Amino acid sequence: MQSMVPEKNVLVIGGGLAGLTAALHLNKSGMDVTLIERHGYPRHKVCGEYVSNEVLPYFDWLGVDFRSLAPSNLHTLRYTTLSGRAVECGLPLGGFGLSRYAMDQLLYRVALARGVKVIFDAVREVGYHNDRFSVATASGSIYKAAMVLGAFGKLSALSKKGKNTDRSSSPSVGVKAHYRYDGDFPTGEVSLNNFSGGYCGVSMVENRQLNICYLADYASFRKSGGIKNFQQNVLNRNRFLKEVLERSTILGQGPISVGQLSFASQPAVQDHMLMIGDTAGLIHPLCGNGMAMAVGSAKLSCELVVGYLRDGLINRREMETGYQKAWKDAFGGRMWAGRMLSGLGKSTVLQGLAMEAVGRFPLLLKKMIESTHGKPISVKGL
Ligand SMILES: Cc1cc2nc3c(=O)[nH]c(=O)nc-3n(C[C@H](O)[C@H](O)[C@H](O)COP(=O)(O)OP(=O)(O)OC[C@H]3O[C@@H](n4cnc5c(N)ncnc54)[C@H](O)[C@@H]3O)c2cc1C
Repeated sequence: MQSMVPEKNVLVIGGGLAGLTAALHLNKSGMDVTLIERHGYPRHKVCGEYVSNEVLPYFDWLGVDFRSLAPSNLHTLRYTTLSGRAVECGLPLGGFGLSRYAMDQLLYRVALARGVKVIFDAVREVGYHNDRFSVATASGSIYKAAMVLGAFGKLSALSKKGKNTDRSSSPSVGVKAHYRYDGDFPTGEVSLNNFSGGYCGVSMVENRQLNICYLADYASFRKSGGIKNFQQNVLNRNRFLKEVLERSTILGQGPISVGQLSFASQPAVQDHMLMIGDTAGLIHPLCGNGMAMAVGSAKLSCELVVGYLRDGLINRREMETGYQKAWKDAFGGRMWAGRMLSGLGKSTVLQGLAMEAVGRFPLLLKKMIESTHGKPISVKGL
């Protein structure tokens, strides 16, 4: 089956936070945009679900208001270590806690209501020839487009086809669930709790559900023999975490997990596609801010796509080099900080020492937040 070929259409591959945000931006800019997503909505995702407020001015511009979903208001970061230390620090811009289940679903609904075409299918291959893209899907459809944004996240088989992609190694595993907390949980707090070979984030999302999400070294996770044993034998050694877990009752169908997480660097432009969100590189979640980066990179890419396709101000090459530069300027430093952290994670001893140091010197915690958060995301002329 061959689809129609509108002249200046954009295809977005992947409808997570980055892809949905980009689709809304392009739609608002009057462009013809089609989004291809392989799963339905709503859907739970492994994520700490803390979102930095730096995204809010941009979502105001896009006309998306998360307040209707009653997210929690987060203002303090608490950091605890295995040796029983706890330090706190204010989050400079603050943030909010909202499940990806609710957040992605809202963005999807808004996109649909505004006329974004959404196709549920899995993209298998992307070709580029004579200034046009050809996108083949699992169902056998082929879509032609003037521009493609790659927003297929950290794990897609599609990303493994590309160059310079080292996602096959599996250094880390992520596990998440929502819980009902028995007691008075400090609702404004995000806590990061260190354990041997990883850390666990705890914070409230909407409806007083507690998100408990951890990232663990894959080898020790496997050795422990599953989620239950890991909680018992590893997580519970952090007494703060033990206390939280003892008072929490799991909701829904239980924990979800994701493996093969790699923090290797990825190209921001690949085969003429502009890569946004985790497709351009997964930041270590201890930096806690991958979602703001997904949203920020969507914005950067869309401004350039509009400049190229709609306004004709730049050519394709300028759009691509412009994006590479803009991405590096905005996120290069944060990715470096993230890679340092994931490098430390390769040695449990080294990571433990570094984590203890953060617990001893609160200034280090402040520095860590500063190096992984950015300024509020705004649009030119806002
Ligand atoms: C353990 C852990 C905890 C985290 N905690 C936080 C946190 O607290 N705060 C924060 O800001 N960030 C956090 N992050 C990072 C954050 O989750 C990601 O940065 C964010 O989800 C990136 O969004 P995305 O749109 O790039 O990718 P995704 O949300 O993964 O979206 C990609 C989409 O592409 C679709 N897709 C993939 N392949 C195809 C294909 N071939 N065809 C069609 N569709 C396809 C997928 O189905 C998916 O919907 C965490 C990450 C992990 C692993």
